[in-house]
Amino acid sequence: MPSDTVAKIKERLGIVEVVGSYVGLERAGSNYKAKCPFHNERTPSFFVSPERGSYYCFGCQAKGDIFTFVEEFEGLDFKGALKLLAARAGVPIVYEKPEKTGEREKIYAALEEATAYFEKELAKQPEVLKYLTSRGASAKTAESFRLGFAPAGWRNLSEVMLKKGFSAGILERAGLAKKGPSGFYDRFRSRVMFPIGDSASRVVGFSGRIWGEAGEAEAKYLNSPETELFNKSKILYGFDKAKLSIKKNNFAIFVEGQMDLIMSHQIGFTNAVATSGTALTESHLLSVDRLSNRIIFAFDPDKAGFKAAIRGTKLALAHGMEVKIAPFPKTKDPADLAKEDPESFKKIISDSLPVIDFILEKIIKAGLSGRRLADGVALHLLPFVKAVQSRIEQSQAVKKIAERTSIRETALFEELQKVGVEQVGAEVGQGKNSKDSRRDFVERRIFGLLMREGVSGKDGVLAKQVKALLGEEDFKRREELYGELKDELLFEIDAYFPDGGESSGADGLLREYQRDILKLRFGLAMRELALAEKGGDRAKTEALIKKCQEISKQITELAG
Ligand SMILES: [Zn+2]
Repeated sequence: MPSDTVAKIKERLGIVEVVGSYVGLERAGSNYKAKCPFHNERTPSFFVSPERGSYYCFGCQAKGDIFTFVEEFEGLDFKGALKLLAARAGVPIVYEKPEKTGEREKIYAALEEATAYFEKELAKQPEVLKYLTSRGASAKTAESFRLGFAPAGWRNLSEVMLKKGFSAGILERAGLAKKGPSGFYDRFRSRVMFPIGDSASRVVGFSGRIWGEAGEAEAKYLNSPETELFNKSKILYGFDKAKLSIKKNNFAIFVEGQMDLIMSHQIGFTNAVATSGTALTESHLLSVDRLSNRIIFAFDPDKAGFKAAIRGTKLALAHGMEVKIAPFPKTKDPADLAKEDPESFKKIISDSLPVIDFILEKIIKAGLSGRRLADGVALHLLPFVKAVQSRIEQSQAVKKIAERTSIRETALFEELQKVGVEQVGAEVGQGKNSKDSRRDFVERRIFGLLMREGVSGKDGVLAKQVKALLGEEDFKRREELYGELKDELLFEIDAYFPDGGESSGADGLLREYQRDILKLRFGLAMRELALAEKGGDRAKTEALIKKCQEISKQITELAG
C-alpha cells in the first residue's frame, strides 16, 4: 500500500472538503453533521470531525476517513478511492512493480489493455466508424467513451494478451475469454465495444453490439459476465461521467441502451446513466439517491425495457425518490431523437410527468369506462400509489385520480388497502443498536471524556475518581473495551459537550455514574446475601450485611 501517497493526500484534502463535496454538511460545534449517506434517515446523525479527519454515524455506525468514505460512497475498493482522491489532490500515485500486484490488479490491467486494443482496432475499421457517425456519435464522444471494436475471429484478443504476459486464467476471470473444448477463445467477436467503467473510471466490463450479420444464437448486445469486478446489479453505465452532473443538476436520467446514453451525454444531458443488461436494482438506485433523489426515466415506451423500468420506478418511489417519466414517442429511440432533433429531446425531458400522472393519463387515453376503468386503475396505477412513502402524497394522488376518473375517493382508498405491500418499502440500513440504557449512556460519556482529555488530562482528576470508584482492574478492563470504540465515543462526547464545555456537566455525569455503579453493586451484594442466608453460611451472611450497609451509606452520602 503506497502509504506516502495516502499521507500526502490526507495532507492536501481535508475531510470536510471531501465529504462536503458529496453531502451537505452543517456546522455542529467543532464538528459537522449531515443526513447519513449510508442509511435512510430524516434527522442528521452523521458527524464529521475536521480535527480528527474522521466521520461517524450514530444511526448505522459507519465510520472512517476520507478513503473509506469515498470507497463506501462510490462503491469502490481502496485502490479506486486512491485513484480518485490522488487525482483530486494532484498527488501522483507511485505504483508497485507489476509482478508484485495482486490478481485483482491483474484483472483491472487486462481490462484496460483490452480496451486499448479495441480502441486501436476501431481506428482500422472505416465501416464501423461510419456506422457510429450515422448513429450520431461524434469522434469526440467515441473517444471520450473509449468506444472500440472486437474483430471477427476466435483468438485475436487472446493472442495479443497472452503475448503481453496475461494468463488465460486472468482473461477468463476478466470476462474477456471463455474456455471451450479446444482451449480459450475470445468472448467478444465482431462487435462494437462499449467499455463500462466503475465510479473511478476503471474499465470493469464491456457491452458489445453485434457487427454484421447476427447468427441465430447471437444476441444483438452481449455483456461481460458477472466477474469479481463487474457486478451488474451495482454498476451503472456512464455513472463515472454522470455523477458530478447528477449532483449539480439535482436529477438523474435513466436511459436504456449504450447508444441512448452516449447520445444523451453528447447533447448535454451528462446526468444520464444506464443499467447494463439487467433490471434496475436497489443498489443502482442507492448510488444515484446519494447524489439526488429525483430521477427521470427516458425509455422507449414500446420496448420490453419500458415494462422493466416501470417496475423500477416502484422501487424508487418506495425509496422516497421523486420519479418522472419522459414521454418519448413510440416511433423513435431516444438516441435517434438526440441525433436528429436535440431540441425536442430536451423538450421531452422537461415535459416529464410524475410517474403516477403518466400512468393515469395513459389509462384515461385508453378510453375505458365503468368497471373496466376501475379495474385498470386498480391493476396498473394503485400499486404505484401504494409504493409512495408519504401518506400525504398518497392522499393527493388518490384525490387526483378521483377527479380525473370520477371514481369515488373512498372506493379508491378501499382498493388501495387491497394492494399487496411489496417488499421494497423497508428502510435500508437501519441502525443496528437499540437505544442504549441510561447507564450505558453515562458510562460511554465518562470514558469518552477520559479519551478526549487523556487519562492524565485536566490533572487526571476524573481518571482518579473513576479509578477509585471502579478499582484498578475493572477500570483497565473497561478502558480496553471502550478503546475499541474510540471513534464512536469521541464523536459522542463532542456531540454531548461541544467545544469542551464540560466543566460543570462532567461533575453531574460523574455523580450519576458513581450512583449507578454503587446501585449496581448494592443489587449484587443483596443477591449474594440472599444466597448466603439460604445456604446457612453465617459468617458470609454477616460480611454481606456489612457490605450492603456500607454501599447504602455511600449512596446516601452521594445524594447529600
Ligand atoms: Zn448512517
